[in-house]
Amino acid sequence: MNRITHLINGQRVDGGSRFSQVYNPATGQVTAQLQLADTLTVDAAIASAQAAFPAWRNTPPLKRARVMSKFKELLEANADAICQLITAEHGKVLADALGELQRGIENVEFASYAPQLLKGEHSRNVGPGIDSWSEFQALGVCAGITPFNFPVMVPLWMWPMAVICGNTFVLKPSERDPSSALFVAELALQAGLPPGVLNVVNGDKEAVDALLDSPHVKAVSFVGSTPIAESIYAHGCAKGKRVQALGGAKNHAVLMPDADLDNAVAAMMGAAFGSCGERCMAVPLIVAVGNEVADAAVAKLKVEIAKMTVGPGTVGNPDMGPLVTKAHFDKVRGYVDQGVAEGAELVVDGRGLKVAGHENGYFLGPCLFDHVKRGMRIYQEEIFGPVLGVVRVHSLAEAMELIDSHEYGNGTCIFTRDGEAARYFTDHIQVGMVGVNVPLPVPVAYHSFGGWKRSLFGDLHAYGPDAVRFYTKRKTITQRWPSGGVRENAVFSFPSH
Ligand code: NAD
Repeated sequence: MNRITHLINGQRVDGGSRFSQVYNPATGQVTAQLQLADTLTVDAAIASAQAAFPAWRNTPPLKRARVMSKFKELLEANADAICQLITAEHGKVLADALGELQRGIENVEFASYAPQLLKGEHSRNVGPGIDSWSEFQALGVCAGITPFNFPVMVPLWMWPMAVICGNTFVLKPSERDPSSALFVAELALQAGLPPGVLNVVNGDKEAVDALLDSPHVKAVSFVGSTPIAESIYAHGCAKGKRVQALGGAKNHAVLMPDADLDNAVAAMMGAAFGSCGERCMAVPLIVAVGNEVADAAVAKLKVEIAKMTVGPGTVGNPDMGPLVTKAHFDKVRGYVDQGVAEGAELVVDGRGLKVAGHENGYFLGPCLFDHVKRGMRIYQEEIFGPVLGVVRVHSLAEAMELIDSHEYGNGTCIFTRDGEAARYFTDHIQVGMVGVNVPLPVPVAYHSFGGWKRSLFGDLHAYGPDAVRFYTKRKTITQRWPSGGVRENAVFSFPSH
């Protein structure tokens, strides 16, 4: 049986006496035993990152950037192996794993602009003969705690930006699909990242608490569900750390009566069912404005869903693979039962799906509910599965009120041909990432990613320009070199110009 350990100071090492199991979700079989780090092991990883910090901090940004350029080449050269690892533990289809990897690579590409990103700000002659500038200095050891649903991309949102800013890093990937992040970290070592600059500890709450409790960890980036994000934000802040904690989502797509319906339905199909709905930018809710467009959309969705293929992600490129674990399968199926009990109309029922030869896999067929209402749990809660609901409203104002009153504010989109409606929507909606005729408005690597309301705890978004601010401390220096032996008398009033 494959045993997955930790990567500390450039070496795979043991640490911790507890283990959890890693499954192949397409077969239901256990594929590995994952060693869960104890506090001592996490402390060893932090110590390794601390030891690597002084030399790495003083390494010129251009040299750090070159490591990222080489690392990008290795990611591309090893794309097949990485995607196989993602699919084997997460279940998503290979083409989708490649999409995730590509978005991760774009973050590495952005990180390779390090010298440009770290130039700072300079003002000459802020006073007579006085110059002033701001530098962005590394924090020290940073940590990242990542979710199962993007096992390669989300770690790449974090540590490449942290390390090009001169920090060292400890990553704690999801215990459900840890292998790809570990493999990718080893590629970074091959690319020339010095041992200790990036460490990976596998584990659960014990490892996370050890990272949060350590006085040597200066900043924590978290991505996962909202209850855990909120508790990590509170715990980390109480320990004096800088924390950004990205949480869950329930993204609404507004369908206006004038939308290009064929394109809108095609876009929402991918956004609802791609990756089995296990994306924080998935669209699990359509808010149809008017019964006419709602009826037409439901009819088209039924036709499109009937064409979908579901199967193991490694065979024949189906549209959808299995859910990640048995526990998650049971939870998502339970939401479908709940929706029926709550009185929503189950138009397409995916609960009976069986995939031949994979009877023990965690496959759930796509499900479609109509007449979903605000008070229902299937409306309110994040299901994180292939379950799409249609809510019917009478006006754009009603659609926006619904979105604004929801606890989450990660992503949203509007499908329309009306520029005025689109502009009003993007200007006023209380959501962090907004699409117009774009169902999954995930910002590119040179912007930053983050939701509003209870989808993000903290001030700065993930990756892109915000990451430079998050992973550095601003220091402002004001300097004068008195010349010609001039001596000034003491001044007791506040200096001004
Ligand atoms: P999760 O919250 O269960 O786990 C995330 C991480 O937290 C994992 O590394 C896990 O080991 C750790 N963890 C779990 N319980 C913990 C505890 N009690 N104390 C400390 N650490 C703990 O999330 P998940 O199921 O892996 O991922 C899915 C969730 O992530 C969804 O809610 C999804 O919306 C969210 N997500 C959000 C974004 C975003 O950018 N906002 C991106 C991806 C996923």
